[in-house]
Amino acid sequence: MTDIAGKVALITGASSGIGEAAAIKLAAAGMKVGIAARRVGRLEALNARIAESGGEALVIEMDVADAASVNSGVAKLAEAYGAVDVLFNNAGVMPMSQIDELRIDDWNRTIDINFRGVLNATAAVLPHMIKQRSGHILNTSSIAGRRVNIAPGLTVYSATKFAVNAFTEGLRTEIGPKHNIRVTCIQPGLVATELGEKTGDPQQAEQVRAFSQMIKFLDGADIADAVLYAIQAPEHVNVSELLVVPVQQPV
Ligand code: NDP
Repeated sequence: MTDIAGKVALITGASSGIGEAAAIKLAAAGMKVGIAARRVGRLEALNARIAESGGEALVIEMDVADAASVNSGVAKLAEAYGAVDVLFNNAGVMPMSQIDELRIDDWNRTIDINFRGVLNATAAVLPHMIKQRSGHILNTSSIAGRRVNIAPGLTVYSATKFAVNAFTEGLRTEIGPKHNIRVTCIQPGLVATELGEKTGDPQQAEQVRAFSQMIKFLDGADIADAVLYAIQAPEHVNVSELLVVPVQQPV
């Protein structure tokens, strides 16, 4: 197993859901964790919680869609802790709509956060990892990155996650051999988080809520465990893909 105590991680989208759960787990494992998102109040509350448990975190206000914001957040982390060992590209949104509604602003926002955000953060950490000749980048796709339209209104969301899959696979084959950097694609199934509440479509949100009463969704902590598994694997092992779904998930 790789000893991760004292190593430095950046988690995007740490203000809720999977990212928040991952921050708690990584800090409990002794990592120094940069917790990044737009809602700074939520990050400060998380920071206090981690500190109370004896962990170490740094609040980083960041909009992953904005390369300048990502660059300055990564610089702040590297300055505070002297390294960037792990990037968990987790920030994401899931606006839902039918294509013929032409909600182009939602499409662009989804692309900017779910895909361009991954590129921005990858570009910001790579120079550090290349210099260190070590590092680990974990990108968050979804079961929707393997199958289109697992629910109505998810076509553009799915497209961004397919893009994440493709980028992640290409990244792994390029920077693994050349720079000794590991790359993992995390593909969650249904996880009980705020994501389903923020689709911009109250009917869809209600359907997600109703479904969550019918089957047992994963918790953010279940995905955080998968992240820990990948980063704690022996240094020569690249866990390249993890599909983690509820037992009862029918698709
Ligand atoms: P949440 O809505 O709870 O978390 C999303 C996080 O992303 C929040 O912390 C939010 O913070 C952050 N975020 C959104 N936009 C930006 C932005 N522009 N810049 C920085 N941070 C941003 O949902 P989940 O925890 O469920 O989602 C995490 C990831 O998991 C997403 O990529 C999602 O697609 C993926 N996923 C989730 C599944 C599920 O069933 N929940 C299933 C499959 C994949 P803030 O608003 O403060 O910026």
